[in-house]
Amino acid sequence: MRPTRLLLLAGTAEALQLAHLLAADQGIEVVASFAGRTRAPATFPCPTRIGGFGGVEGLVRELRRGAYDLLVDATHPFASCMPGHAADAATIAGIPRLRLLRPGWRPGPSDRWDEVETLDAAASRLEETGARRVLLTTGRQELMPFAGLVDTHFVVRSIDPPGPLPLADAISIVARPPFSVETETELLRSHRIDTLVTKNSGGDRAKLVAARKEGVAIVMVRRPAGVAGPHVTTAPEALRWIRLTPPGEPPRSMVPTPRPSWGGDGPRHQCPRQQGPGRQGPGRQGPRQGTRSATRNKVHDKEP
Ligand code: NAP
Repeated sequence: MRPTRLLLLAGTAEALQLAHLLAADQGIEVVASFAGRTRAPATFPCPTRIGGFGGVEGLVRELRRGAYDLLVDATHPFASCMPGHAADAATIAGIPRLRLLRPGWRPGPSDRWDEVETLDAAASRLEETGARRVLLTTGRQELMPFAGLVDTHFVVRSIDPPGPLPLADAISIVARPPFSVETETELLRSHRIDTLVTKNSGGDRAKLVAARKEGVAIVMVRRPAGVAGPHVTTAPEALRWIRLTPPGEPPRSMVPTPRPSWGGDGPRHQCPRQQGPGRQGPGRQGPRQGTRSATRNKVHDKEP
């Protein structure tokens, strides 16, 4: 019997964790795929490929060309295009797809988050509240919404150097997670930060704990809504789903289902590069996959 071939859409810590778990499994051949945004992606213990596929059609071609049996979408919670493309392409190619998505943060009883839908709304909120010294952890490629705030000092933290900052008054800090509560507290204090702007990416809470401790206001950008279909929240759960899903098994049901929000509170972001038949055709009606092992494997049909 040939090994199961799995295409892993990477870009998160969970994707790396899953790749390590799968490395020990002789029966599964994994190829990890990156968009190519990060300059030095973490070293994966499997073959990798870099760059977009060319929309839904391109991904379908790649799934067929590589004779993949399974697709795991472990892209970032704020990846606005890939989850939809993955759902559509898997449907068209007739292979099961799983979304691996870490849970979002939820405010604790003493947290007072200012939740907004978009980065533009976050910038407006900073203006309304008169924030003067802001820690921005929203990503180096998403600074433009804050460009109009000329009276605010920004500390921009990113994994890769951001290049020239499009902000009137800003400094850049390049640092790679994880961070501790102690170092986050020190960062907030040393830069006299009054407001933290962050996307609700989930994962480590150190900056949120530090901000609460220091009385720093938090502007939290909600997650975009996403696609329906099976999802898990951890790499071990994804591994169990992979092992329980026979290679090449077609989706259990081709009964069309609408594509509702899967639990991101925010709006469904527009994907500027949507192409291929998935948007108009069967891809809008993703099959309900993964229900077979739902009870045993904590596979949900709605994302958290
Ligand atoms: P996106 O809007 O979902 O993706 C834009 C395009 O990039 C996709 O249409 C696809 O191009 C290509 N792409 C995305 N992920 C890919 C992958 N794993 N392999 C191959 N091509 C991929 O996502 P984004 O916000 O631009 O983010 C790009 C990548 O960075 C994602 O993989 C994501 O996981 C990671 N990331 C994003 C954030 C964030 O805040 N958005 C944060 C950390 C990491 P084609 O249509 O040509 O196939």
